[in-house]
Amino acid sequence: MERKILELTDIKKYYAGSQSVVMGLDGINLSFSRGEFVAITGESGSGKSTLAHVIGGILPYENGEMFFNGGRTSHYDALDWEQYRRDNISFISQNYGILPGASVLRNVTSALLLSGMDKKSAHSAAEDILREVELWEIRRRRAAKLSSGQKQRLSIARALAKPAPILIADEPTGNLDAENSAKIIELLAKVARDRLVLLITHEFSEAEGYATRHIVLRDGNVVSDVPLRPASEPENTPSVLMAEKNKKQKLGLYVAGLQIGSRPIWSFIVGLIFALTAFAVFAFLGVFIINLDDTSTYVYNSKAFENGDMSRIVVSTVDGEPMTDEDYEKLLSVRYVKDLERNDMAVDVRYAYREGIDFETVYQGESNSQAGEYNVTELYRISVNAPFIRTVPLLPGNAEFIRDGRAPQTFFEVVAERGVAKLGDIIDIILCDNKHWGAGVFMKVKMEVVGLTDVGKGLYFSDQVGRMFSNIALSANKDNMYIPDAKVEKGTFICAESAVEKFRQLIENELPPEWTFDVSDPESFGSDTLTLTWSRKYHTVKYMSKLYIVSPEDYDVLAGTENSSQVSVFIDDYAYTDRVLGDIHKLGFVAASPYRLGATTQDETLAAERMQTLEICVTALVVVFALQVLLLIAMFAVQTESFKTLSNIGLTGRTARMSILWQILIFTAIGQAAGALAIFICGYNGVERIEEMLRYLPAVYVILLSAVHIAASALAAIFVLRSIDKHVYPMAWKNRDLVIDEKEDAK
Ligand code: ADP
Ligand code: MG
Repeated sequence: MERKILELTDIKKYYAGSQSVVMGLDGINLSFSRGEFVAITGESGSGKSTLAHVIGGILPYENGEMFFNGGRTSHYDALDWEQYRRDNISFISQNYGILPGASVLRNVTSALLLSGMDKKSAHSAAEDILREVELWEIRRRRAAKLSSGQKQRLSIARALAKPAPILIADEPTGNLDAENSAKIIELLAKVARDRLVLLITHEFSEAEGYATRHIVLRDGNVVSDVPLRPASEPENTPSVLMAEKNKKQKLGLYVAGLQIGSRPIWSFIVGLIFALTAFAVFAFLGVFIINLDDTSTYVYNSKAFENGDMSRIVVSTVDGEPMTDEDYEKLLSVRYVKDLERNDMAVDVRYAYREGIDFETVYQGESNSQAGEYNVTELYRISVNAPFIRTVPLLPGNAEFIRDGRAPQTFFEVVAERGVAKLGDIIDIILCDNKHWGAGVFMKVKMEVVGLTDVGKGLYFSDQVGRMFSNIALSANKDNMYIPDAKVEKGTFICAESAVEKFRQLIENELPPEWTFDVSDPESFGSDTLTLTWSRKYHTVKYMSKLYIVSPEDYDVLAGTENSSQVSVFIDDYAYTDRVLGDIHKLGFVAASPYRLGATTQDETLAAERMQTLEICVTALVVVFALQVLLLIAMFAVQTESFKTLSNIGLTGRTARMSILWQILIFTAIGQAAGALAIFICGYNGVERIEEMLRYLPAVYVILLSAVHIAASALAAIFVLRSIDKHVYPMAWKNRDLVIDEKEDAK
């Protein structure tokens, strides 16, 4: 007596709805052997499909026992069922269970691959099967384009492709005309020679000529079970032919490709939307990060530094020692540092050379001074927009910096931006130090343009000019301030009367005996050479006594040529401030951003705008994430059917989950690549916000942004995986339901 492949004893199956419980099977007792071709009929709702699904290991049963090859199945867990389905069950349903987006050939090969066959054998096996069902000629056609008869034959081909011992066909001919139905039944009958074939049909007549047995169901019960003809004796064991039957499936990526490839339009749209969400995440989060720096909402006040250029960073040595050329090189090699100004104090001094733009003449001629007050011959009002002094950059930099002429060698030589002046031009320049010397030092000097630059903007002064202002600034607490003047002869000083005694001492103690000095008021120098003005408040003998006017040649001797201990570096953009400050600190210097030091009072309007920007970004991000999650859920909802189909031909839950993760990964990767590309294209084509953002975003933040985007996908994945488990792998879901029930019971 041949061994029963299946035995069902008192199998009951209930469907628990939200309010009621429906009886699906009400105590079924049946047994089946290979070689049988069983026709199962019954009215609609009699439990035929339920029986098919229980036997197929797709739905769990609640009562009784199903023996498979003599073994109990009631203790099976989700994995056992999965393996049971994968190795033993081929399932054909009325809605074909094919992948409509994939080609005919791919439909069959995927089934073979999923049941553990290697690619090559899958292809040749698929060819045999397709020839048998007469679909080989149209193997490249998309399954969706087939006629109903062809679709059903394909679905059978898929089922046959999997050499499982049990083939279940749930109303396979429901959509077919008589001629096609007959073909299908014939095919099934052929298959039944070495398998168990269960044919569920409402049209018994079409199976009558082939079936070996006829079972009738009513209300979940077997009401008749009649043998019609002898079953065939199976020769070989089809499933056992599979050499690598238990090969571990690593087909997640393959299934992901199958899902993506079989819905090209959907996949394209999803890819596109992922690119958009990636773009939005990059853009909004980028803007968000920029706005986290709230310095931009403060109004700059020049109490700390007159020149609050956002790209300026002031650097000094820790010990106050002068900087060396090596220090300069180190600083210039810091990333994002564009150039370096040796004379930091000069950077806070404005110069003016364009009347009406940089300055206005507000007073000319003699004034009646009050007691102790010097007459003013010319008085200028320097515009608050007048440029700040920069000196000509150091060699070797200035070889490229100066395109025509040469570097300035004296106080009275200057390099000009081409277009501002020509070589040899003499320009009237007003130097105005508002910062360091009380109410300010105004000097009007004539300078000759000796060099031209195409790189810089405006005028570039000699190192002597820079040092003079550094000295003035530093001299505020020192005794002597020197100002070079071309009209002063070498070896001569000019100073105020009040300083005579001090000068005399200076000369006697420190300078060669051949040096002499004149005693004079500053105003007697003549308005075209040097004009000094200062306010009443600061016009005191104390200040005057520090000021010595010397020849340019003597200037270096008296003021020295030592490098300053403090320089300013200029960076490409304020956005890099933190990174540059960090790097400079690492080099062992003290550094600060004058802009930050000066930005102390908050502008409420700007602050409110910033808050608004932050809110908009957060909202936009939440919306984008929600969209992405919804999109993924929608996409996988569309895929649920094909996952069901694939699960019927052996796709394990593990592989299904892996394929979902792969898809998410693939879409996220494609989306991020496209989104990032779009960001860069926008950035380099002058979309200002994005340009700015790119400057602000260090690489770590970019990685962070990617992670956030992936996190949004992962969130969707959780929903999707649950839903796939619930709809495609109810066996796996069952256990969770039980857990939930237990909880509810405990309440
Ligand atoms: P048939 O395939 O013979 O038409 P089914 O097996 O589909 O019958 O259905 C048997 C009974 O179980 C019917 O009363 C049907 O309403 C019920 N049923 C089937 N599937 C579900 C389900 N998913 N949820 C609730 N009840 C169901
Ligand atoms: Mg049915």
